[in-house]
Amino acid sequence: MSEEYISCPFCKEDDFDLIGLKGHLLNGRCEVFNLTDKGQNRYIEEKMKCNRCDKAIKDPEYCWYCESELCKQCWEKFGHCGHPEADKANELSAKATTWEERHSILETTLKQGFN
Ligand SMILES: [Zn+2]
Ligand SMILES: [Zn+2]
Ligand SMILES: [Zn+2]
Repeated sequence: MSEEYISCPFCKEDDFDLIGLKGHLLNGRCEVFNLTDKGQNRYIEEKMKCNRCDKAIKDPEYCWYCESELCKQCWEKFGHCGHPEADKANELSAKATTWEERHSILETTLKQGFN
């Protein structure tokens, strides 16, 4: 065997090649690395991203249509990640005059969203 094996500097698990080690760290498989500042930042960068504008977020709001993460600005403006159905429902609901009407529009659209 000519390949060199290295061990993870964080959890000391061994038998990685360089590519394997990178995956181990960056895909969140190293529990020790996940607890470091660097690991925490990685988590925020990789996992917490606005699904509308791709901005990294620490404290996400949630899309009312599919429940994925959104930044505050997109959430306040659109409330969802960009579904045309949800845009339409927002429009309809803005025109609706009663709370019941608005509620039933949102409910119908929500159900479609989870189908
Ligand atoms: Zn490790
Ligand atoms: Zn956004
Ligand atoms: Zn969504």
